[in-house]
Amino acid sequence: MASLGRFLRRAACADRQRIIYFCPACDSAHQIALAPGSPAWTFDGNIEAPTFSPSNLCSWSGSDGEEVCHHFVRAGRIEFCPDCTHAMRRQTVPLPEFPYAPNTYGGIEEDS
Ligand SMILES: [Zn+2]
Repeated sequence: MASLGRFLRRAACADRQRIIYFCPACDSAHQIALAPGSPAWTFDGNIEAPTFSPSNLCSWSGSDGEEVCHHFVRAGRIEFCPDCTHAMRRQTVPLPEFPYAPNTYGGIEEDS
């Protein structure tokens, strides 16, 4: 796979390829994992306007209880679901450019 461009990064964690993108609602990165392995998402290969399927449901324990960020990434836009606990729920926004250069964020690598 060539460079993943402005919006995406990838990492191989636990022997699985993961695609990483930046969430403007959480101000942090989210990821999907590709097959083989489970769970697995599909990526249409469009690095300028990516689509992942199915949705990505992220949850974690925050200072105010359980935080949820549930969203679709379709055609380069993040569509936040109503069950998000953040203020961007129900909104659809363009996927932001990944704010960190390749190989500078938490061990995330990008092949050139
Ligand atoms: Zn998020």
